[in-house]
Amino acid sequence: MKISIIGTGYVGLVTGACLAELGNEVACVDIDKNRVSTINSGASPIYEKDLEPMLKRNVTAGRLRATADLGEAVNATDISFISVGTPSGVLDYIDLKYVEKVSSDVGKILKDKNSYHLVVVKSTVLPGTTEYSVLPLLEKNLGKKAGSDFGVAMNPEFLREGNAVEDFMHPDRIVIGGIDKKSTKILLELYKDFKCPVVTTNPKTAEMIKYATNSFLVTKISFINEIGNVCKLLGIDVYEVAKGLGMDSRIGEKFLNAGVGFGGSCFSKDVKALVGKAKEVYYRPIILSAALEVNEAQPLRLVESLEKKAGSLKGTDVAVLGLAFKPGTDDMREAPSIKIIHALLKKGARVHATDPKAINEAKKIFEKHERLLYYDSADEAVKHAKYVLIVTEWNEFRRKELYKGKVVIDGRRIEEARAADEYEGLCW
Ligand code: NAD
Repeated sequence: MKISIIGTGYVGLVTGACLAELGNEVACVDIDKNRVSTINSGASPIYEKDLEPMLKRNVTAGRLRATADLGEAVNATDISFISVGTPSGVLDYIDLKYVEKVSSDVGKILKDKNSYHLVVVKSTVLPGTTEYSVLPLLEKNLGKKAGSDFGVAMNPEFLREGNAVEDFMHPDRIVIGGIDKKSTKILLELYKDFKCPVVTTNPKTAEMIKYATNSFLVTKISFINEIGNVCKLLGIDVYEVAKGLGMDSRIGEKFLNAGVGFGGSCFSKDVKALVGKAKEVYYRPIILSAALEVNEAQPLRLVESLEKKAGSLKGTDVAVLGLAFKPGTDDMREAPSIKIIHALLKKGARVHATDPKAINEAKKIFEKHERLLYYDSADEAVKHAKYVLIVTEWNEFRRKELYKGKVVIDGRRIEEARAADEYEGLCW
């Protein structure tokens, strides 16, 4: 099939590369010209396992190209995926400005296109957005009603950064919310070789499945962190508790790793947006708000534990192992490391930070600070500090030698760190 992907961030680029790998002809569109030329050179503008070789293979084979020319890409294809960002907006609702801009622009382009075109929303959008924002904008600018000339569908994405290519290629399920049978049928054809179950539904339900999924995961993480906080006070190892808990088939073992909490571009943004949406219809979601509250406080507990050991942090050298919100990515959006480093700097500590992939991202997030120093390797970072905080569970940090002679507060349960002179787990 001929497909254009609008927005080549984590979701768009992975979607584009994987669909090209499956034999489709893909045009990736982005307003960021640097991104476009990087992709066309066969390199990846983001770090994501297995992505770069896949991009290179498909660019070389002529199945994937990038362009900043939306009109050219839409006209040359039959399906357009909208995968631009949907950041938090006013009062935590999502900011639809990118989705709306693309919807209007695509509508204008399709006005002069003679063949049927399917527009698919892949960005995470609140229930009702595809039908009541995207579709009307397309119709208004196209001057035609959706149906025979063009179709619309919502197809949420569940990939995890750090494992995005594998997740896209082998999803647990695919959700398709078409506005009509024709729209749904085209996506069923596109995904026909995937072995997973496919849920076909209406756009609003498809949108809600994505929000319900992220809300459940967030709740599960905050739940185990809260149990961990109580375990710590009671002298119980929460990881032993989680093992026994996760054996219950109703609960499952995944997402029960207590620690400094979740980050990433999606979890807190999506749950906050759903809380906002619920309030709009006069419902106050107690569980979701509490899950967010637990997560807000969790990273700072690491700093509190450090203060209990070190006393005042003024002038204290502290190594921070891990900046990315999780291993396998350079993404620092909402990473716990941000709150932790801000708190350390505020309390007067000298921070020696390291991460295998995210140092460049960190330099964009933190203003230059004389007490914030970056190191390419963990060995270098720990050399300068007696106190070590483990914030991201990169495999690079799983070496006993790193911790000898140190005082470690572990936010991610790195067993090797127990080789430290003094070791303390955040919730164990
Ligand atoms: P991102 O911020 O990494 O990328 C968005 C891209 O869109 C950027 O490259 C930007 O330049 C481009 N863009 C903005 N306006 C554009 C326009 N008018 N035309 C063309 N390109 C434009 O975003 P992301 O992390 O890939 O997320 C995209 C969507 O997918 C969001 O709604 C997000 O919530 C959702 N999502 C993200 C993940 C994830 O793990 N990152 C997982 C599932 C769903």
